[in-house]
Amino acid sequence: MEKIVLAADLGGTNLRMAAVDREGKVVFRNRMSTPSHGRLEDIISAIYSVIEESKRELEGRYEFAAFGAAVPAIVNSQEGKILRSPNLPELNNFDFATRFYSDLGIPVVLENDANAAAVGENWKGASQGVRNSIHVTLGTGVGGGIIIDGTLLRGVDGTAGEIGHIAVEPDGHPCGCGSIGCVEQYASASAIVRLARSLMADHPESMLRSHLDITPLEVYEAGMKGDALSLEVFRLVGRYLGIALGGLVNVLNPEAIVIGGGASAGWILFIDHLEQEIKRRAFPHPAERVRLMRSELGDDAGILGAAYLASEKFAGSDRT
Ligand SMILES: [Zn+2]
Repeated sequence: MEKIVLAADLGGTNLRMAAVDREGKVVFRNRMSTPSHGRLEDIISAIYSVIEESKRELEGRYEFAAFGAAVPAIVNSQEGKILRSPNLPELNNFDFATRFYSDLGIPVVLENDANAAAVGENWKGASQGVRNSIHVTLGTGVGGGIIIDGTLLRGVDGTAGEIGHIAVEPDGHPCGCGSIGCVEQYASASAIVRLARSLMADHPESMLRSHLDITPLEVYEAGMKGDALSLEVFRLVGRYLGIALGGLVNVLNPEAIVIGGGASAGWILFIDHLEQEIKRRAFPHPAERVRLMRSELGDDAGILGAAYLASEKFAGSDRT
């Protein structure tokens, strides 16, 4: 029977699950809303219910070899433990791998969602075949994943790659992580809204003034119509991201920087500013060398990354 892996991407809004074969093809997928009652057992039950549905659907045709999960948290990937999850605090200190291994009886791999997205893009997306790359996910926050010599950079505890928490303003806006002035506060979807509000007084002519609750999409749409306030917001997004990435280009000399996540939809409005800022700050050679790329996998980056990491887990034994 053909072996496949189960992969889950747990987000603050949706729990997505896919059964993925060794070539990276999704053979079955399902999803549900992430339980929002703040109870750990509700999230665990939700994960079991999407797993059970996959199993029912594929029974008799495939053998499940491993389970990989991408979660919005700082994780110890070696031990499969969630350390801290700002968006889903009920997951704090949860020994994920032990719990699911004991119930499922197959190897369990746990990874931070942005790290998993980096692996997914490197396996099947924009940075295929690239050995050194930086991956940035612009969502509610700013996630990061770094691949060096073909391997995900994890650090001693597995917490490495948190690009979103590089400070770009020494006395800047407070960040959810406890620090201040992190790039996440200047380049995420939530930052786009905050920046638009804070610049409103300087732009009485802006078409966003008539909006009660500004969304990142509205800022983008106004920018595409030439709204000066919105263009200034995306200039700042590009500039601040460029400050963080310019430093990383000097440190890591990557071949590619891949940018994904919902707020990367504003690419056309920020990418020139980002590129200029990298060129202004980084050494000429690595700044010329690095290619800026848009994510190709979109929402599937995390799930494919989790699948790849899970399939690696049994690769040594019987995967050919
Ligand atoms: Zn931070």
